[in-house]
Amino acid sequence: MVLDKPGQPLVARTLPDRQPAAGEILARVTACAVCRTDLHVVDGELPEAKLPLIPGHEIVARVLACGPGVRGFPEGMRIGVPWLGWTCGTCSHCLAGRENLCSEARFTGYQIDGGYADRVVADARFCFALPDQYDDLHAAPLLCAGLIGWRSLVKAGDGRRLGIYGFGAAAHIVAQVARWQGRQIYAFTRTGDEEAQRFARDMGAVWSGPSTSPPPEPLDAAIVFAPVGFLVPLALKAVRPGGRVVCGGIHMSDIPSFPYEILWGEREIVSVANLTRRDAEEFLRIAPQVPVRTEIEPFALADANLALDALRAGKLRGAAILAPSPS
Ligand SMILES: [Zn+2]
Ligand SMILES: [Zn+2]
Repeated sequence: MVLDKPGQPLVARTLPDRQPAAGEILARVTACAVCRTDLHVVDGELPEAKLPLIPGHEIVARVLACGPGVRGFPEGMRIGVPWLGWTCGTCSHCLAGRENLCSEARFTGYQIDGGYADRVVADARFCFALPDQYDDLHAAPLLCAGLIGWRSLVKAGDGRRLGIYGFGAAAHIVAQVARWQGRQIYAFTRTGDEEAQRFARDMGAVWSGPSTSPPPEPLDAAIVFAPVGFLVPLALKAVRPGGRVVCGGIHMSDIPSFPYEILWGEREIVSVANLTRRDAEEFLRIAPQVPVRTEIEPFALADANLALDALRAGKLRGAAILAPSPS
């Protein structure tokens, strides 16, 4: 499925097959989760997409062939291909373990063709083995919802009372890890979205309610996954002095102005950008210990536009997964 023009639906076609160059892997895609970032790319809210583009960056695939110099990826091995697709390795950020901030970084399903396809070519240095406990469909959401969720959770610090704004794919994974760590989850959803509030309680939230209500007690930290700027002042009001608000999305509508007093008291607002390979190693080790269970809604690859529409409309419980028909 190909994006030719942002703002228009994906077109059912393929791009010419690319053979793996030095350091690259060619793999057969078996599942690709649909991330909110894909929506931002398809809708043109992220302006630097390669065009035409195959979206998708939560890819589970089987190695078909490797280019020169690739070791440790035998044919048939299952790999995960995440959002971070390439970094320069030499800039100050890369050298300091912050490759997520590399200004030369290239991203899967954005500047590199991704997983809404039956084949993918990826840089082997950014591919991972996946925990055996997960089948392909259930493993796919670990690759972005899980990894970015994990990075957001770490950024939130170790406070016990954690608010989550927007209860979708990332939140449902973070909630499980946070509970396993002994924290309490307070879930905020769209007003009237009782289905999402129920989902959050099923995932172990101690409280769930509309994002406009204050929590029953002040929070130590909050993560905002919904791409909605007006939630940031609401989250600031919900955290205690010294508390932190983490913005976990790549794109957000403008944050409205707010009185200084809700930031006062050493409250902090921070964002999370992308992921590092270390985040992936940590999270993929922890996920089977929790164990994280992923809620999925499978779609045929040809129905990618339907999956994107369902995500846009907030109609998904868990993560949409595209699966090419087995060939
Ligand atoms: Zn760099
Ligand atoms: Zn993503």
